[in-house]
Amino acid sequence: MSSRIRRCPVDRRYTLSPVCPVCGGPTGPAHPARFSPQDRYCRYRKGLRRWNTSQ
Ligand SMILES: [Zn+2]
Repeated sequence: MSSRIRRCPVDRRYTLSPVCPVCGGPTGPAHPARFSPQDRYCRYRKGLRRWNTSQ
């Protein structure tokens, strides 16, 4: 049911309404698409690789 949670991109306020209660603008999904745990892993592995080659 967490998919019902939405967020205003303007003032970053979480709400269940499709309309922001603060600025009245449209809200979007609470979870931003650019944030992915897989990408984080990729960056982490790259960092480890660098550390290994420098030693
Ligand atoms: Zn707003």
